[in-house]
Parts: sequence; structure tokens; C-alpha cells
Amino acid sequence: MAKPSEPQQPKQATSAADDGGSVPAHLFRQAVEQAALAISITDAHANILYANAAFQRITGYGQDEIVGHNESILSYRVTPKLVYETLWAQIQRQRPWNGLLVNKRKDGDRYLADVTITPVVGEAGITTHYLGMHRDVTEVHRLERQVQNQKTLIESVVDAAQVAIVLLDEQEHVLLDNQEYKKLIGDLGKEPAVRLLAALREQMGDAFAKAYDKHRNIAAREVCIEASGRPSRWFSCAISWFEEHDVGADAFYEPLRRHYLLLTIQDISELKRQQEALRINSLRALLSEQERIQSLRETLAGAVYQLEGPLNMLSAAANMMGRRRETGSDLPAASALEEAMQKSREVLETLRACIPDHNGEAAQPLNLNEILADVLKLATASLLGAGIVVEWLPSEGAAMISGHPAQLSNLFKQLISNAIEAVNEQRGGRRELRIACTLFADHLEVFVEDSGPGIADDLRYKVFQPFFTTKGAARQHLGLGLAMAQEVVIRHGGTIDIDPGYHNGCRVRVQLPLAAGGNHA
Ligand code: FAD
Repeated sequence: MAKPSEPQQPKQATSAADDGGSVPAHLFRQAVEQAALAISITDAHANILYANAAFQRITGYGQDEIVGHNESILSYRVTPKLVYETLWAQIQRQRPWNGLLVNKRKDGDRYLADVTITPVVGEAGITTHYLGMHRDVTEVHRLERQVQNQKTLIESVVDAAQVAIVLLDEQEHVLLDNQEYKKLIGDLGKEPAVRLLAALREQMGDAFAKAYDKHRNIAAREVCIEASGRPSRWFSCAISWFEEHDVGADAFYEPLRRHYLLLTIQDISELKRQQEALRINSLRALLSEQERIQSLRETLAGAVYQLEGPLNMLSAAANMMGRRRETGSDLPAASALEEAMQKSREVLETLRACIPDHNGEAAQPLNLNEILADVLKLATASLLGAGIVVEWLPSEGAAMISGHPAQLSNLFKQLISNAIEAVNEQRGGRRELRIACTLFADHLEVFVEDSGPGIADDLRYKVFQPFFTTKGAARQHLGLGLAMAQEVVIRHGGTIDIDPGYHNGCRVRVQLPLAAGGNHA
């Protein structure tokens, strides 16, 4: 330790004039003595000449124990040498220095000191003394570290979370995000949170605006984001708000509150895909069940139709014999024929009774765009297999009608499979299927167009007759598909025809009335 110079009393103001004011010199001494800050005055080598009461309280050294020692008595020797070198370089240039030093009290206890050293420059321009002031900031530092540790912990937990989390200010600027959110930026581009909030805003309308303005939380909501050229992505989004008190000096006595929005985003695209596959599979099962019933209806109706012809002939024969019976001839034969006919009618009635009814599916509001999209999904494998290029043009806005979803699905399934078959009949040439749904004031129109050979003008109406087929019995066609389609359309109060103005193949046109007030264009 450097040899301390002779302990001296700090240079005192001797008169009011020395201070340039009217404060008496002893008042300076009392003020320093009683200050809450640890104050020491050293010579030019940091040997302590004076220490106030707070200095003694903080360090544990009495005035007699400390005066004459170098300030280095306080050093705990873990403060890097460079810090001291900087300190001395600064004060030797006659500039104040401020920094944190690890100090040791008389009892060996360590504390963190926030130290300010100011050179006292004499009249000759030489530094004669140093004024040291320090505070014990151990507790402040501990609290700061604790906050920092908690922040790090929270950030690590947020970062490790399997859902994307992002914190936004009220201007929707991102303040904090996690790894999952960063992955979303990679997938969706900047800024996923803003896109998702816009989608929520559009989906929820006024309810979103109200909740947002009043800083109310929003429970998990499913949102779809369309990505160009890629499958749509589905997210479950939840919003929670929290308040923060402004930490600025202005807000010390008049607290200001800031609101922050915490958006949690869970990618549910895979779940949605599974649900959709499940839905399409159950629709496929429903339609194939309907198809089975339909073919039973067709077979029985066909049998009834086929039996009606000979029965009518028998009836005519019976009438003729009846007339002859009046003359007395062929009496037994006429009775036998009468009996046979009676039996045949009974069998026919039994057969008619066996024809299954349409199921009791209730009419309900439905969006025909969705039905058409589902039927197209069901036909995807056949369309791909046949190498047919599909153009699907849904109406702008929901195509709301009141109808029976399964029957309508079957109707369009029939039209699409007719179209696929027609295109397959062609060797070479275009292989196209175009389905368009257009909204009008009170009805909607669906076109199912194919690039097959088309239907001759003279057959445009006949094709809707039961048992009329252009394919022939060898190809297992009963000719009931379009008849069934017409039956469904009529049951829905609509019309179906073959467009005579279309010559690039066949265009089937279905018109259906819109549900009252159901067109959400
Ligand atoms: P030292 O050998 O004393 O010094 C380390 C380095 O400091 C040296 O390599 C040298 O570059 C520089 N240095 C030291 N003394 C001088 C000098 N007289 N002239 C030029 N360069 C020098 N230290 C604390 O740890 N805690 C305190 O609370 C504290 N308060 C201080 C208050 C005042 C008013 C002053 C002037 C200094 C204070 N110091 C304090 C610094 C203290 O004097 C020592 O420099 C420091 O404690 C390091 O001591 P040391 O024995 O480890 O190393």
C-alpha cells in the first residue's frame, strides 16, 4: 500500500465570500457529514483524509480506523485491473469517473458500490485531492439481476413452446416472438401476426372490433390463410391482453398504462386435413349407400316398367276375350286369363311397394359451391385417372339454396361421371371438364361442360326419359341417371336441360331457386 500522506482536514470554506454565496463554511461541513451518501476526501494518491458518517456506516470502519489508509482497503480484488486503470486515467485527466466496484466491508462482507470520484483541482491547476462518493447498490443490482433472470427464463419457456407466440403493441408492431413464430415467418412471409389479425377481423366483424377496442381476450378461433400455389393453412388463434405501467419518469406520479396483445397461434392444418378427409370419406360412404338404393330403385322400377308392357297386352287380350265370353265361347280360357291378370297386377303392386322411397333427408340451407367442391373432390381419382383437366369456377359469394345435400351431391356426381364417360369416349382431342356456378337475382345456374362428343339435338329431351340410353345394354346402362337427375332437380323446384347453343361437347345446365334472402354475395 502506498504510504499515506499526513492526514489532513478537508480544505474548508472559510468565509461566505469563498463560496461565492452566503452559506457559512461550517454548514458545508455539516451537510457533508450528515449526507446519506458515503463521502470521502483523499490526497492525490487516494489516501483517505476524511470519511463522513455514511461512509463509516456502509464500510464498517470508524473514522480513526480508516483515515490514513488508501481507498484500496475497500477493494475486494475481484474488480478487473482494467477498471482501476481506466478510473485512474480518467481522474488524472481531471475528469470525474463513475462506475461499479466490488467492495469489502471491515467484517469481510462484500457489497457493490456505485462510485463517483471527482478530482479537486487547486489554484495552481494541480489535482490536490479527490472527492469520493459511493452508494451500496447491492440490492438494486440483485433486483435487476432477478428481473433479468426471470426475463431470460420467460423467454426460454416462450421460445421452447410448441405454439407460436408473439407480443404486439397497440400499433401491431412485433415486440417479442418465439422460435415457432419465426418458423411461421419462413412459411408465410412477414408479418404472420398482422395477416392473422386481419383474417380474424374479417371473420369476426364487429365482435372483433368490440373485443379489440375494450382489450378483451378472444378465445381460440380457427382462421384460414390462403397461400398462393400452396395448400391453405389453418391456425387456431387466441388473443390475450395485458397492461404495463409506463416506466418513464413522466409516469412516476401519474401512471400511464400501455396495452400489449399476446397472440398465440397453433398450426392446425394437419388436423383440418384429417377432419376433411374424414368428412369426404363419410360423404363417399353416404353417396355410395344412396347409389345402392338408387340402383335398387332403378332395377325395380325397370322390372315394373318391363312387366307393364306385356301386362297391358294381356289386358287387351282379356278385353277381347271378355267380348267373346258375352257370346258364350272361350268361357274357361277367359276366366283363367282374368285370374292370371289379377295375380300379375298383385305381383306388380308388390314390386312397386318394394321400390325404396327417397330417404327422409330434410331440406336445409346449404351452399351449393361447397356441395360442388365436395363432389369434385370425390371424383378427383377418376378425373386424374382419365387425364381430364378440370376448371372449377365457384360463384362469387355463397350460393345459398334450400335443399337436400345428399340428393344434390348425387345429382352432380351423376353429371360429372356422365361427363367423364363422355370424354373417355373420345380418342385424342381435348379432355376437359368445366364446372361453373353463377348467381342471378333469384336463382343460380350450374354448368357442367365436357369436351366429349356431345348430345345430338334430337336427343336433347329424350335423354331425360327413363330407360333411354345411347350406350346400349351391353354397357350396363339402364338409362336412368339423367332421369334421376331430373327428378332431383324438379324436387328442388329447378330445371335441367342440355344447352343447345353449346357445340364443343355437352353442357348440362341446372337452374335452382336461391333460398329466400340466402345469397350472401
Ligand atoms: P493499486 O495498485 O492500488 O492500483 C491498481 C491500478 O490503479 C494500478 O495499476 C494503476 O494503474 C492505478 N493506480 C492506483 N493508484 C494510482 C495512483 N495513485 N496514481 C495513478 N494510478 C494509480 N477502490 C476500490 O476498490 N473501492 C473504492 O471504493 C474506491 N474508492 C476510491 C475513492 C477515491 C477518491 C479514489 C481516488 C480511489 C478509490 N479507489 C477505490 C481506487 C483505489 O485507490 C485503488 O486504486 C483500487 O482499489 C485498486 O487497488 P489495488 O491495491 O488493487 O491496486
